[in-house]
Amino acid sequence: MSGDYSVDAVVVAGGAWSAVIAQQLGLTLSLQGGKGYSFMLRNVPNNVRVPAIMLEARATATPMGTDLRFAGTLEVSGTDMTVNMNRVRGIVQSINKYYPDISVDMPAVDKVWRGLRPCSPDGLPYIGRTEHYDNVVLATGHGMMGLSLGPATGKLVSELLDDSVRSMDIAAFKPERFA
Ligand SMILES: Cc1cc2nc3c(=O)[nH]c(=O)nc-3n(C[C@H](O)[C@H](O)[C@H](O)COP(=O)(O)OP(=O)(O)OC[C@H]3O[C@@H](n4cnc5c(N)ncnc54)[C@H](O)[C@@H]3O)c2cc1C
Repeated sequence: MSGDYSVDAVVVAGGAWSAVIAQQLGLTLSLQGGKGYSFMLRNVPNNVRVPAIMLEARATATPMGTDLRFAGTLEVSGTDMTVNMNRVRGIVQSINKYYPDISVDMPAVDKVWRGLRPCSPDGLPYIGRTEHYDNVVLATGHGMMGLSLGPATGKLVSELLDDSVRSMDIAAFKPERFA
């Protein structure tokens, strides 16, 4: 989308790309993409029944019916979306340690999903109005927890835009805290 638009307010919620968007507004946002990968095994005989976090390997196993999804790693990568198969190999090798009965080969590169977690230096999100513009609200930087924290963030953003009473103190999420 391009062109000039007249708006009442702008919400910057561009995930790992938020720093690039913020830059266009003259704001410096300390933010990095933390790339993670996932891939799916199809029709797993005797599939596992309990989702698990393989803590030491920093990977997860999530059964979905007869399929099994493995995900993990956090690669500091800016906004680079290329697939690093060495990272994927790390997940595959850890699976064999936790699930010796499940045979896992390296997936083809086009079967690997990757996503960028928007990571701030202190692990806290950026939620709030900016000092520069009173009609710009940031809602980003949720790192590994953005899906879980989405509803609460949405509520806070609506309260900010309405200028209504905040459900909680959001001082710790101040967008300019590293400026
Ligand atoms: C492997 C993996 C596992 C994860 N597991 C979990 C989990 O179990 N629980 C959990 O809570 N979180 C999890 N996360 C983290 C979660 O995915 C992120 O925190 C969340 O997606 C961040 O949401 P967001 O809306 O801020 O950014 P995104 O989901 O990245 O959305 C940002 C959107 O903005 C768009 N955009 C960027 N630039 C522009 C532009 N200039 N104009 C218009 N649109 C633009 C992008 O295309 C994108 O669609 C996981 C992440 C990964 C990678």
